[in-house]
Amino acid sequence: MKEISCKLLVIGAGPGGYACAIRAGQLGIDTVIVEAAKPGGTCLTIGCIPSKALIHAAEVFDATRQMAGGRNAMGIRVDQPSIDLAGTMAWKDGIVGRLTSGVSGLLQKARVKIVSGRARFRDGKTVEVETETGQQIVRAETVVIATGSDPVELAALPFGGQVISSTEALSLRQMPKRLIVVGGGYIGLELGTAFAKLGSEVTVVEATAQVLPIYDADLVKPVTRRLTERGIKIFTNTKAIGLSEKGDAIVVEGPEGQQELPADQILVAVGRRPRSVGSGLEDLDLDRSGPYLRIDDRCRTSMRGIYAIGDVTGEPMLAHRAIAQGEMVAEIVAGKKRAWDKRCIPSICFTDPEIVSAGLSPSEARAQGYDVKVGQFPFTANGRAMTMQDEDGFVRVVARADTNLVLGLQAVGSGVSELSAAFSMAIEMGTRLEDIAGTIHVHPTRSEALQEAALKAMGHALHI
Ligand code: FAD
Ligand code: NAD
Repeated sequence: MKEISCKLLVIGAGPGGYACAIRAGQLGIDTVIVEAAKPGGTCLTIGCIPSKALIHAAEVFDATRQMAGGRNAMGIRVDQPSIDLAGTMAWKDGIVGRLTSGVSGLLQKARVKIVSGRARFRDGKTVEVETETGQQIVRAETVVIATGSDPVELAALPFGGQVISSTEALSLRQMPKRLIVVGGGYIGLELGTAFAKLGSEVTVVEATAQVLPIYDADLVKPVTRRLTERGIKIFTNTKAIGLSEKGDAIVVEGPEGQQELPADQILVAVGRRPRSVGSGLEDLDLDRSGPYLRIDDRCRTSMRGIYAIGDVTGEPMLAHRAIAQGEMVAEIVAGKKRAWDKRCIPSICFTDPEIVSAGLSPSEARAQGYDVKVGQFPFTANGRAMTMQDEDGFVRVVARADTNLVLGLQAVGSGVSELSAAFSMAIEMGTRLEDIAGTIHVHPTRSEALQEAALKAMGHALHI
């Protein structure tokens, strides 16, 4: 049995863990990271990156198919295209491989020791890891738990056979003819849209009254419209009850009672649960917040010397939140004075069209007691959107009525994900409407809609 000691032990090399370990290494902290699977975690191996690769491939295929169908006004003609899903997946795996080996390289460059295997807590300062070469004991002064999350399984539709999670959906070798998606949230709509574009007949079953319930109805409307135009069937206020007797359909219950929906493959995407039990975690005296590990504004758990970051600590379960927490914790361990002081955690849904949100929506701002000004500028009045043949959507700004302080920025439309940097920067910097309105925005770009939305909130948009 081998034993090593270090100052900092990070458990899990997802975005939270690897960012923490790299920054700690840069700061000269003697750091060990333990990873049971591949460096990069959910995000790089079975989440953000492979899903965005599949979404992009689906978009390209769909655009090509539309051209072949003669449905383009730009005069481009192509022959009938086809898709080799195994080839698409191999291309996607190549990107994942480049990124995961990139993370290993960055960890090595920062002089972080990587231990491959599953860590199990012996006590709050010691873990044992089953590695390929035997058991390894790691003792540390400080421990960071960055164990991430797993897909939620429905008791009525356990994973196995044709019932799959996003992990299997991202590695399919054959296109499902009829795909039922249970859960119309991030994963359900991102992957459901991608499979529809690749040629599957897709049906979405969502328990609440609206798909993407975390976004407001105005932002979601252009997405639902396009899902419907594309032939994706949406059942809202509907829950999956189980598989049919023959196993070739799922039984759902909604406003019209029970019915069977025929399916070749069923993707269950009803949320993710934290990996906060197992690995000896339940034997530690850590406070919980529901199923998550409870943390304070420095990501400290209730046990001295143990921090937790990323999905294991709760919503929003987003990679950039995990990275920001990881970087902050490394600096705290190095003795710097840091606390969680972010004004917003921006989010993007990579649907068609995309949704981006930073800060408060109009209703959230009102619920917090603000009197607000809202400015909304549609892409139908934006030259760049016209030249890109996609005028759906808008940019919206929410500001305090008394001071013009920007409280929130949202957009829905093609390519709006790239506006997220401007949105979050504006909020972090305490921008007022005048700052956005007074900034020269390049013409012709979709980002001009941001300037116009600010002008509109001030009562004098130029182009509408
Ligand atoms: P994880 O990335 O889950 O990493 C945890 C790591 O810990 C894993 O590698 C695991 O193997 C390891 N581990 C767990 N237990 C142990 C143990 N006992 N010993 C050793 N190692 C252990 N977020 C976005 O921001 N944008 C997106 O576009 C996006 N798309 C997504 C698409 C899909 C399909 C999915 C599933 C998720 C997506 N997410 C997205 C969410 C994002 O992946 C997570 O928020 C992010 O990965 C969380 O990072 P983490 O470091 O907390 O945990
Ligand atoms: P989600 O929370 O986004 O959506 C789950 C959906 O399932 C909700 O709309 C919910 O109402 C519905 N639902 C729950 N139980 C149901 C049932 N029994 N029947 C029908 N519908 C049901 O969760 P997800 O899509 O699984 O994604 C998990 C997490 O991963 C997200 O919360 C997000 O943090 C992260 N993620 C982020 C991105 C991104 O940033 N673009 C993309 C994918 C995943």
